[in-house]
Amino acid sequence: MHKILVSRCLLGHRVRYDGGAHGPFDLLQRWLDEGRVVALCPEVAGGLPTPRPPAEIRGGQGGAVLEGRLAVLTVDGEDVTAAFLAGAQQALALVREHGIRLALLKARSPSCGNLENYDGSFGGVRVPGEGVTAALLRREGVQVFSEEQLDEAQRVLAELESATGTSSAD
Ligand code: SF4
Repeated sequence: MHKILVSRCLLGHRVRYDGGAHGPFDLLQRWLDEGRVVALCPEVAGGLPTPRPPAEIRGGQGGAVLEGRLAVLTVDGEDVTAAFLAGAQQALALVREHGIRLALLKARSPSCGNLENYDGSFGGVRVPGEGVTAALLRREGVQVFSEEQLDEAQRVLAELESATGTSSAD
C-alpha cells in the first residue's frame, strides 16, 4: 500500500501560522481510514511555534532557499530559513522511510505550496513558485499535489497502486 505525505493542517490539526486548520476533506478521511497517511507540518517539525508570524520567500521560490540563494523571512524580518530547511529535511526523511511517491500539501504555503506562492511582499500577491518542502520533495521525485487537486492526486494514487498491483485492501 502506498503511503502519502499530507500537510497536518489539511487534517484539521491546528498548526497553521495563525493557529488555524483546514478541512475536513472526504478524500483525506478515506486515506486516513486506509492507513496510508503520513502527517507532517514542516514548520512545526522544524521547531517553529504555533501561532507564529507569517513568513514568505521573496519571489516565492522554495528551490532557491534550498540552494542557499534566498532566505525565508517573517513579516517582522526575522530569518527563519533554518527552521524551514529542517522541516523540509524531516519531510524527506519520512518520504525515504516510507517509500512515498505522492504528497498532498497545502496550497500557497512557503513550506508546502506546490504551484503558487506569495511573493514576499506580504501583500497577498501570488506568483508561480513552490514552498521549501514541496521543492525538496519534488526534487526527490515525489509528485506533489494540493488540496485544490484532490481528483488528480486520487488518480495518480490509483495509477501507482495498479502499477504495483496493490490496493486499499492490501
Ligand atoms: Fe504546516 Fe504546511 Fe500547513 Fe503550513 S501549510 S501549517 S507548514 S502543514
